[in-house]
Amino acid sequence: MGNENNLALNKNVAVLIGGVGGTKLASGLIKVVAPARLTFIINTGDDFCHLGLKICPDLDTLMYTLAGSVDPDLGWGMAADSTTTLESLEQNYGVEPWFRLGDKDLATHLLRSQLLRQGQSLTAVTGCLARRLGLSARLLPMCDEAMPTIISTAEQGELGFQEYFVKHRWRPVVESIRHQNCEKAAMSPAVSAALEQADIILIAPSNPWLSVAPILAVPGLRAALKRADAPVVAVTPIIAGAAVKGPTAKIMAELGLTVSAAAVAEFYAGVIDGFVNDCRNEPLPAPNLRTVRLDTLMTDTIAKAALARNTLEWIAGWAA
Ligand code: GDP
Repeated sequence: MGNENNLALNKNVAVLIGGVGGTKLASGLIKVVAPARLTFIINTGDDFCHLGLKICPDLDTLMYTLAGSVDPDLGWGMAADSTTTLESLEQNYGVEPWFRLGDKDLATHLLRSQLLRQGQSLTAVTGCLARRLGLSARLLPMCDEAMPTIISTAEQGELGFQEYFVKHRWRPVVESIRHQNCEKAAMSPAVSAALEQADIILIAPSNPWLSVAPILAVPGLRAALKRADAPVVAVTPIIAGAAVKGPTAKIMAELGLTVSAAAVAEFYAGVIDGFVNDCRNEPLPAPNLRTVRLDTLMTDTIAKAALARNTLEWIAGWAA
């Protein structure tokens, strides 16, 4: 543990991942796995069109983080960014700046939108942006089709994801969640190949209901996980009965679930072979699941790399 320059494992690792929480584990993985062997399959259920631009929040959070250009305080957006464009939109045109887009960040959305309009797929465009930012790890959107997450709430009826999350600050009570257009989406050849070629498949400690469920809803993806030779292992986003950040625990309670790692493991039943529980949690009552308790609280760079290394070493200990 600890030596960040020592690439511990020479394995192909594929990771199902959402935004800021999952990206903490990605920052650790990049220290212990050769980046060219890492593939991230990223939630795009949060994507939306804003000011005529295609915005992919989870994709960009991961891309900026791995490129070393993320805003370290926010955990998303670009470091040392300004908001002159948004201020001008508000001051000159009365456009409410409810969704923050920095000026440097806007460059990504402008270029992505242009390349998409020229007919490239989101997979191709993402690869192009990531390579230009110097990344060797592969970043794949969960699918090429738009598959927006729609939240049904008690107070506001149905809300688009960003309306729920940003505009209403995840205050409304969640009644159900659906994945619009999923019948028209398909697993991309790149995602399919990544899952086939993986030696280990991880589910990052992202929000299971908002960040991972959309990925699992992509037609064909659950079946591909079942078919895969690689073990599939999830890391708990719940520590000591609470989420580290964000609405995971609130949503679990609203959906009538106990806020526990056990409920998360149950949500992934049929998908996972193993589960990384936190050392602060009760052991899981799941006899058919391989489990381990590790310190999963990623407070700094060392803790992120340690969790990545300990998780991979634990899996290597029982997987063929
Ligand atoms: P979002 O899309 O930006 O909300 O981020 P994700 O869906 O990727 O991650 C949100 C989840 O990350 C929350 O449920 C948090 O509990 C979890 N999380 C954040 N930091 C940590 C951490 O240090 N350790 C663990 N185990 N979970 C974390």
